Amino acid sequence: MVKGNLFVISAPSGAGKSTLSAELLRTVPGIVYSISVTTRSPRVGEVHGREYYFATEQEFFRRRDAGDLIEFAKVHGFWYGTPKAELEKTLAEGQDVVLDIDVQGGRQIKKLYPSAILIFIAPPSIEELEKRLRGRSQDDEATIQMRLENARKEIDAAGDYEYLVFNKEIPESVFRLQGIVWAVRSRMRMDLLAKLNTAKKSLV
Ligand code: 5GP
Repeated sequence: MVKGNLFVISAPSGAGKSTLSAELLRTVPGIVYSISVTTRSPRVGEVHGREYYFATEQEFFRRRDAGDLIEFAKVHGFWYGTPKAELEKTLAEGQDVVLDIDVQGGRQIKKLYPSAILIFIAPPSIEELEKRLRGRSQDDEATIQMRLENARKEIDAAGDYEYLVFNKEIPESVFRLQGIVWAVRSRMRMDLLAKLNTAKKSLV
């Protein structure tokens, strides 16, 4: 039985999603980051088992074919997927989970978990996104062009999402994300209603 809330955060690369998710996880208790499996190579500073589980294509396909991945997609030429067992265990423990995945993955998750909350983080503009992608000088020109093209496609898919955060200023965007999480946690549920009724009895 699902007990925790499942948050999906998607964004075109360069929109600032990693910074925002990290801030959300640092500042809100009871929320856990789901570590994906990927066939892309680690970037400088990335650690296996922290940012990603880095895998060969062979390992990735073996896990996918064994049903270990709850969703998977090819993004920017590499494979990415969400490990199923870890996700189900964390949710069953009552912890909230953040999936930092692309829009193809977001759609797959929404079908499997209709109660998942989909949040889209957008850059203020495509020009600003291009500036940020160039500014981090992490990718070559062909990669930047591919990421920009992908960004346009991702923005087209944003209509499927339930929350939209334009990331102009990081502190405001973090505040918005925190607000979404706390609002979802405050939704009326049967177990909360039972608590409320117990509290009412002891008051009278
Ligand atoms: P990056 O390689 O820059 O870390 O991530 C590239 C893209 O892959 C990002 O949009 C990220 O959200 C997405 N991504 C990361 N993990 C997963 C995953 O498990 N599934 C899917 N569908 N996308 C993922």
